[in-house]
Amino acid sequence: IKPHPRWASFSPDMEANTRWRHEIIRQLRTAFQANLLQVWYQPQVHLQTNEVSGVEALLRWPGEVGFIQSPSVFIPLAEYSGLIVEMGDWVLDEACRAYQELQHLPNAPKRVAVNISMPQFRTGTLSKSVNQSLLKYKLAPNVLELEITESIAMDEPEIVRSCLSALRTIGVDISIDDFGTGYSSLGQLHALPIDSLKIDKSFVDDIDEEKSGLYVELIIGLAQRLGLSTVAEGVETKTQAHRLKELGCTIAQGYYYAKPMPLHELKRWLEARANA
Ligand code: C2E
Ligand code: CA
Ligand code: CA
Ligand code: CA
Repeated sequence: IKPHPRWASFSPDMEANTRWRHEIIRQLRTAFQANLLQVWYQPQVHLQTNEVSGVEALLRWPGEVGFIQSPSVFIPLAEYSGLIVEMGDWVLDEACRAYQELQHLPNAPKRVAVNISMPQFRTGTLSKSVNQSLLKYKLAPNVLELEITESIAMDEPEIVRSCLSALRTIGVDISIDDFGTGYSSLGQLHALPIDSLKIDKSFVDDIDEEKSGLYVELIIGLAQRLGLSTVAEGVETKTQAHRLKELGCTIAQGYYYAKPMPLHELKRWLEARANA
């Protein structure tokens, strides 16, 4: 596994950098083994009906302070060290357990989305883990959606494609995350068994600008032609939500609706919304 390019900039001293990296990995592993990590959930809202269509599971490391706490920092380290395989299985299982608790609430979301990293595909046992968690909590496969980033989908296309086919056979949904930031060609996209595209936050941020607006419109148009749904991430304002709805985007997710939150808070949030 290659170190993430991002690490190159943290220290001019490569050795110190490596020591630092290994120290964080050690702390992360200890926290994971001590069961200190948490999974938080961010609602996704259907733009036409305003119903909560799903939630995305996002890993949290609550005890930590500073920038280490950010998944954008510790997830690449977990990937680099291989720890993400075990951690990813745990997130998957935890998300299924949470969904089992949520499914009978009024206003229950229809699915839970879980992020999957490349090392999890390489193990060849991802579909087995998925099956196990679904069985354990007696969930229908279509309540689970797996998100893979556009760049990993194109990284090792053969491994990813065969794995996605196996997952599709089980009946889980597949979504391409951060769509528009990678380098997939339409041909590669066409070859993958997928259900939806997640429009990257960077396009949503500048949706008012002509160029980004055009990209969003093109992605939604492409998805519609391919029979895929679209999820816009990082929606922060009413104006963005309105514009996305106008353009025919299916689902929106972002601080405008709610930030990621622990399960017990999500339950209260769903309840308050059902009674509103
Ligand atoms: P992502 O999958 O693109 O997740 C969306 C990120 O945007 C999350 O950051 C979320 O908290 C944040 N976000 C959502 N709405 C808004 C908004 O309106 N404004 C802003 N500024 N941000 C918003 P988070 O939780 O820090 O996660 C960062 C990344 O870490 C994720 O990006 C994902 O790539 C990775 N990650 C998180 N949890 C997991 C996990 O369990 N497994 C794997 N493999 N990766 C994970
Ligand atoms: Ca995601
Ligand atoms: Ca994303
Ligand atoms: Ca993103």
